[in-house]
Amino acid sequence: MPTFANRVLPFGTTIFSEINTLAAQHGAINLGQGRPDFDAPVNIIEEAVKALQSGQHNQYPPGIGAPEFRRGIANHASKVYGLDVDPDRGVVATAGATEAIFASILGLVDPGDEVIVIEPYFDSYVPNLLMAGATPVFVPLHPPEWTLDPDELKAAFSPRTRAVLWNSPQNPTGRVFSVEEMTVLANLCIEHDVLVISDEVYEHLVFEPARHIPIASLPGMFERTVTASSLGKSYSVTGWKVGWVYGPPELVAGVMRAHQFVTFAVHHPSQLAGAYALAQPGTYYEELQAMYTVKRDLMMEALTGAGIKAKTPEGTYFVMGDFSDIFDGDDLAFTQHLITEIGVACIPPSPFYSDEHRHLVGKMARFAFCKNDDTLRQAGERMKKLLK
Ligand code: GLN
Repeated sequence: MPTFANRVLPFGTTIFSEINTLAAQHGAINLGQGRPDFDAPVNIIEEAVKALQSGQHNQYPPGIGAPEFRRGIANHASKVYGLDVDPDRGVVATAGATEAIFASILGLVDPGDEVIVIEPYFDSYVPNLLMAGATPVFVPLHPPEWTLDPDELKAAFSPRTRAVLWNSPQNPTGRVFSVEEMTVLANLCIEHDVLVISDEVYEHLVFEPARHIPIASLPGMFERTVTASSLGKSYSVTGWKVGWVYGPPELVAGVMRAHQFVTFAVHHPSQLAGAYALAQPGTYYEELQAMYTVKRDLMMEALTGAGIKAKTPEGTYFVMGDFSDIFDGDDLAFTQHLITEIGVACIPPSPFYSDEHRHLVGKMARFAFCKNDDTLRQAGERMKKLLK
């Protein structure tokens, strides 16, 4: 009897689970998965507790999401980005941005369609496309500045292109793309009548002077973009797994058709707390950014002290380090060495690439700095041993 379906045969265990297991086995400081080691703001947790105890929110919410949450998402998009989102027809609440992206692909992309994927990409994108029967077409960013080559991007478009999977601020490079770079992409999408599925989960993790621009806010783009985001990163609740998609009602209807038969609906009490979180004043995000700026600088110090070169991230809580000056093997060998000999875990970035372009990060590793300042300092101390 065959065990697995053919569709999942090529998929291994995600690199995040693998590294978590290895890090735990060796007692390594885990700078692998983007999982904060500090708790969420107390007032946001209190809202979740209130929702749990209200007697009103422990049964199914509407499949598209609790009305309070959908209004929160639409108001946030209007207040922060000036976007006009319809809370009743233009929003779907999802099980994190990961489901948001998968439901968007299932609801909007046909088998045989081509979808442009920028490399390095978050690891679920390609398995999502393959499960939907779509064909990924890869366009790599160019290190060390992680720039897009406009000609390579243009060459990736064909009559079969249905969508582009876009991610800014970008995991794992820490790039926040400029309006000029995004305009090149937007013009190609308009010219070829292509959709954008935009992953913006790091929208509030941006460092001065970078500024996050939703691709949906560019002229002519709202009507062809579905934007995925979540509570996880902005409010340090990655374990809640509550996210959303917003966009024009005609596209969101497709996402909803898939979502209703994937999860139907998502955790109701968290959506109430989400509505509260999304209404935080601007000072909340300023404090979040100030906190992460300190962490980013500690991370950069730790890398420099270990002889690892890196472009300072403009956003996200990740940095890609180049270890070519201090270690001979590839990214997998370096990760193994760092965990077992130095006691620090990172993520090898080659799983974020197609076979063709994997060599671009053969000497790189991703470090997550969503950790207590002391954890980052300790990691820095341990990593000094790399120079010996
Ligand atoms: N987004 C997180 C990261 O890149 C991981 C999420 C996951 O494990 N699926 O580290």
